[in-house]
Amino acid sequence: MSFSPSSSTLSASMQAIADGLGSPRDGAFAQLGSRFLTRLPAAPLPAPYVVGFSADTAALLGLEPSVADEPDFAELFSGNTTRDWPGDALPYASVYSGHQFGVWAGQLGDGRALGLGEIEHAGRRYELQLKGGGRTPYSRMGDGRAVLRSSIREYLCSEAMHHLGIPTTRALCVIGSDQPVRREEMETAAVVTRVAPSFVRFGHFEHFYSNDDTDALRMLADHVIDRFHPHCREADDPYLALLNEAVHSTADLLAQWQAVGFCHGVMNTDNMSILGLTIDYGPFGFLDAFDANYICNHSDTQGRYAYQRQPQVAYWNLFCLAQGLLPLLGGPHDEAVRGERAIEDAQRVLEGFKTQFAPALEARMRAKLGLENERPGDDALANRLFSIMQANRADFTLTFRHLARISKHDASGDTSARDLFLDRPAFDAWANDYRARLSEETRDDATRAIAMNRVNPRFILRNHLAETAIRHAKEKDFSEVERLAAVLRRPFDEQPEHDAYAALPPDWASTLEVSCSS
Ligand code: AMP
Ligand code: MG
Repeated sequence: MSFSPSSSTLSASMQAIADGLGSPRDGAFAQLGSRFLTRLPAAPLPAPYVVGFSADTAALLGLEPSVADEPDFAELFSGNTTRDWPGDALPYASVYSGHQFGVWAGQLGDGRALGLGEIEHAGRRYELQLKGGGRTPYSRMGDGRAVLRSSIREYLCSEAMHHLGIPTTRALCVIGSDQPVRREEMETAAVVTRVAPSFVRFGHFEHFYSNDDTDALRMLADHVIDRFHPHCREADDPYLALLNEAVHSTADLLAQWQAVGFCHGVMNTDNMSILGLTIDYGPFGFLDAFDANYICNHSDTQGRYAYQRQPQVAYWNLFCLAQGLLPLLGGPHDEAVRGERAIEDAQRVLEGFKTQFAPALEARMRAKLGLENERPGDDALANRLFSIMQANRADFTLTFRHLARISKHDASGDTSARDLFLDRPAFDAWANDYRARLSEETRDDATRAIAMNRVNPRFILRNHLAETAIRHAKEKDFSEVERLAAVLRRPFDEQPEHDAYAALPPDWASTLEVSCSS
C-alpha cells in the first residue's frame, strides 16, 4: 500500500513506516470496526521538532536510532502526514467508559489519543498511539492536546518504569511545537508516541456492558484472548480465564508499584490496562520521604489514590471489570442459573487478587531487604522498618538502597542508611534485629549487596528531576531530557558520575504540585 501523499512528501524510510502502520492486520484492534473506534486524521501541529527519542523503543520496532535525525521524523510522529492517509488507514480514536474517582463517569474514550496502527518486529506486534494528536469525537470539553510538560513526564517515566522492570506502555518520542495551549497558564503543545501491545483498558469492557452491547463485548474479549492469551480458549470458560489473567497481572503490577514507591495518581478504571501495564502517566509520583498516605495528585483531594490505597483501588477496579464481563460469564446455562453462576465465578476469580498480591509484595519486600529465605518474622521486620521510615520521613529509595551496605557482622560499619533517620536509637534498634536476621542467611555481605542493588534502584524519576528537564526544554534545550533518560535507563547501576540524580530532593521540590491538568 502507498499513500502517495499530496501535501507532504516523506523520505523513503519514513514512508515505509507510514505504509506499515496503515496496513490492515488480522486481529488488530483497529479491525474491530466502527462500534469500537472512529477514524480521523490528527490535527496539524505547526513546525514540529523532536524533543525526546528513545532508541530502545525504536529498536523494539526494528527502527534504527538514526530515524530521529531524518527531517520528516517529526512530521510523521506529530501526526501531520496523516491527513494524506486513505480513509481505511486513518488513525483511530477508540471509545471507552469508566469509573473516575469511584463514580461512574459514562462515556469517555480517546479524547486526545490516536492509534496509528501496528508495527511488527521480531515476531512481536506493537500498537503505536499519538497522545495529544488533536480533538476526537470523545474529546468532550478538551482541546485534544497534551502540553510539553506532561509529555516529557510521560516519556521519561514510561521509559524509566520499563528499565525498572515494571510492565508499562513505552514511549518512542516526544514531538514539540510552539503552538500555544491553554492550561492554568499558557503552555505549548506536544505529542508523545506511545507504544504497547495493546491499549485496551478496563473501561473498554465497561463501555459495552453499560451499552448492553453483548455482541461487541464478546468481540472485544475475543480480540484480547486471541491476541494475548490464546491459552484461555482451553479453559472451561475462556472469559473467566481472561478475567483471571487481568486479576493476576494487575496484582503483580501493584506489587511492583508498591515495592518501588510508585504512585499512579489517577487509578480510574479507564486508566487500567487489560494486560496489566502501567498506562496513562499524568500526576504520578515516586515516594521521596516515606509517607504511606502520600497523595501525588494535587487534584485528588480525598486521597482516594494515596500510595497505600493503590492495591485496594486496583481490586475495586477489577471488580468493575468483572461486572463488565458478567454477560459473557456463567457458562451454557439458562438465564437464571447463568446469572448466578456468573457472579459466583467472578467473585471466586477476584479473590485471586488477594491471594496473589500479598505474597507477591512480601516476596519483593524480602528481596529488597536482601533475605533469600522466608522466615516467620520477615513481615513484621519489614513493617517495623516502614513505621520508623514513616515517623522519620526517611527517603524511600535511599533507605532501601543503603540497607545493602549494612554488614551482618559489624554494627559500627556504614551509616548511610542510619543517617536518613533523625531518631537514631529507633533505627539502631531495628538494625540490630535486621543484622540478627541477616545472620540466618547463608549469603555473605557482598553477595547480598549485589542482589539487593538489583532490586533497589538508585535512580528514580523524582519530580524535581523531571521539572529541571522540563524547564530547560521550555527554553528549547532538550539535552537534559536525554541526559535524565540515559541515567534512568540504568536505575540499578551505581553511576557515580551521576550522584546528583540520586540525591535527596532539594528544598524547592516541596513546592512542586502535579495535578490532572496535562
Ligand atoms: P485522564 O484523566 O487523563 O485519564 O483523562 C480522562 C479522559 O479525558 C479521557 O477520555 C481523555 O481522553 C480525556 N482528556 C484528557 N485531557 C484531554 C484533552 N486535553 N483533550 C481531550 N480529551 C482529554
Ligand atoms: Mg486516561
